[in-house]
Amino acid sequence: MKYIDQIDFSGKNVLVRVDFNVPMDKTGKVTDDTRVKASLATLNYIREKGAKVIVTSHLGRPKGKRVEEYSLKPVAPVLAGLLKMEVPFIEDCIGEKALRAVAGMKAGEVILLENLRFHPGEDKNDEAFAQELAKLCDVYINDAFAVSHRAAASNTAITKFVPLCAAGFLLKNEIEYFNKAMKNPARPLAALIGGAKVSDKIKVLENVLDNVDRLIIGGGMAFTFLKAQGLNIGKSLCETEMLDVAIKIMDKAKTKNVQLLLPVDAVIAQTPTADAETKVVDVKSIPEDWMGLDIGPASIAAFSDAVKTAKTIVWNGPLGMFELAPFASGTFKLVDAVVDSGALTIVGGGDTDTAIHKTGKSDKISYISTGGGAFLELLEGKMLPAVAVLD
Ligand code: AMP
Repeated sequence: MKYIDQIDFSGKNVLVRVDFNVPMDKTGKVTDDTRVKASLATLNYIREKGAKVIVTSHLGRPKGKRVEEYSLKPVAPVLAGLLKMEVPFIEDCIGEKALRAVAGMKAGEVILLENLRFHPGEDKNDEAFAQELAKLCDVYINDAFAVSHRAAASNTAITKFVPLCAAGFLLKNEIEYFNKAMKNPARPLAALIGGAKVSDKIKVLENVLDNVDRLIIGGGMAFTFLKAQGLNIGKSLCETEMLDVAIKIMDKAKTKNVQLLLPVDAVIAQTPTADAETKVVDVKSIPEDWMGLDIGPASIAAFSDAVKTAKTIVWNGPLGMFELAPFASGTFKLVDAVVDSGALTIVGGGDTDTAIHKTGKSDKISYISTGGGAFLELLEGKMLPAVAVLD
């Protein structure tokens, strides 16, 4: 795999695929610039090495045609402010306008191209469209980890037509942290998996069992496992069609000698609402019309112990309905345990990221992945197409 810091950029035209899929309000104002900030290390590095920097991204799902609300135009001033330089916005990402803009650039300058997804070829990983993009550059850098699990012209086909292709700093970090955690981990290695549905995470659970020493399961999905063990889980989330899968996963954990931890108690309520009456009960005593919405204190203690004595932790999915205060404590207390563990910790997935941000402790986590879907696919053991082509 080639990385950005192995390339001589001097005098080159560099196309950088970033993820500027930022949230905007109705007036087209960018409301969160986290993703733009995440690209700065890569963009500044290339710029300072004396190259022309041509920035390209998608935004939203315009489905192959020009849709004004998905224009990247409002992102240009945001990027300009962060880079502290002018960033001209170019109204197309290929063709005459783009070629002319690149020809007019000086070394060290940055331009932002219009949304890649205004062209149908982008999502189709179309070679003709990729060739048009390739005409703009002699070096290609991919720094858009969050879309690396979907082959698109700007992250996969393009690598056939540009002589020099490499991963940017953000992509490099994602891959290196993931490999450190899952390929050659300091042990014990613990996976903390939560969230709503078993069905979304079966492949993750099956795959991590080949590697981890401890698998800790919380969140709504834990109740399908408890039901599969014959417990009465009341109105808690349950995927009846996943009961067999849950049994297989528990059997695999036994065969592989992986310590499997499930909740032993739960915070229950009759409705998933912030003002509902709550009780803490043993998971063996969930009443018929109540539902488990968070792990209880005994589970928090057991999960925290398992985490605190681990040397490497991988975490995806909240342990309860953390969006509502009465059911947030399991997830928040586990953030504390993870931070206290001093272990190498990698966290991925939008909800888990949000939960950790709410605690104000994000900077104490070794690495928070920028890609929900892409991170899950890595945990499933899949090779990401846009990463594979750089290898
Ligand atoms: P996921 O996207 O699969 O990681 O699921 C995240 C969602 O799972 C969050 O919105 C949580 O509110 C929800 N969740 C976590 N635990 C529970 C639970 N015990 N019951 C219902 N929903 C839950």
